Amino acid sequence: MRPFELTAPTTVADAVASSGTFLAGGTTLVDLMKLNVLTPQHVLDINRLPLRGIAVDEDGNLRIGALERMSDVAAHPAVYPAISRALLRSASQQLRNMASIGGNLLQRTRCGYFRDVNMPCNRRDPGSGCAAITGVNRMHAILGTSDSCVATHASDLAVALVALDTRVRLVGPAGERTIALADLYRLPGDTPQLEHNLTEGELITEIIVPRLDWASNSTYVKVRDRQSYEFALCSAAVALDVRDGHIVDARVAVGGVGTMPWRLPAVERELRGAPVSVAAFEAAVSGAADGARPLSHNGYKPSLLRRTIIRALLELTEPTEGSGA
Ligand code: SF4
Repeated sequence: MRPFELTAPTTVADAVASSGTFLAGGTTLVDLMKLNVLTPQHVLDINRLPLRGIAVDEDGNLRIGALERMSDVAAHPAVYPAISRALLRSASQQLRNMASIGGNLLQRTRCGYFRDVNMPCNRRDPGSGCAAITGVNRMHAILGTSDSCVATHASDLAVALVALDTRVRLVGPAGERTIALADLYRLPGDTPQLEHNLTEGELITEIIVPRLDWASNSTYVKVRDRQSYEFALCSAAVALDVRDGHIVDARVAVGGVGTMPWRLPAVERELRGAPVSVAAFEAAVSGAADGARPLSHNGYKPSLLRRTIIRALLELTEPTEGSGA
């Protein structure tokens, strides 16, 4: 790790007026600094900023301060099950106690080549190439990829939040704005080093989950190589409004397969009005992986994607099997 300057602003205005790299829980940044993947000269510890609190506002929207810790959000009774389960199935308990919600949404990819400064990686070193495309790519993305980068987005939380139409409040040197979380993220295209649409100095201050009464019937299914402390091979966040044996409305987003959290509006349309049956579910998800571009080692993902969504649908329409973190 290289020497750097550390300051700790106490107001949001001071933080966004300073030039530097924000440090919240540190569970991504410190790792990458130790590996020399990131070498900031100035680190801004933002943990003293007043960005805490989990509350339901007068319109029923859930508002979460960006510095709330993952474990506290997961345990809060007002948080929808898909969000809680996505958090509980992320990382280890120790990491969940440290990592902030805002930082989780901006965590960097877990592509092993990105974290190895001896390997070519367009995301870390633009123009150097992509070692994953011809290398070991079993964990990599099949949706939203480009010839420059095929890395998956790492956040489980972001998948659940995108499914639920979450917005994020941003504050920067030019003022404040609120955008859809889905619009925060960018496809890699020719510029994979640009991962989000934050402007210079902009900070996530609040996460706003719109009221959706039937989101109490939601879940997050995560398929991974082991049952804890592992990233997704595929995941699905699903919320269902079910009445009289039919699906009235649905929200579906998937993770572990896309270069950003991947909403599936076509699957949602197919589910609306469908009967609660395995046959209807299979029909609804049949096109879920349309447009996928599997790599040499992850040809299993289109099928896994469809089956993961079906498992989530069954979890919400049949007795739950129980959950494991
Ligand atoms: Fe880098 Fe993306 Fe290629 Fe991984 S997939 S080596 S992050 S360019």
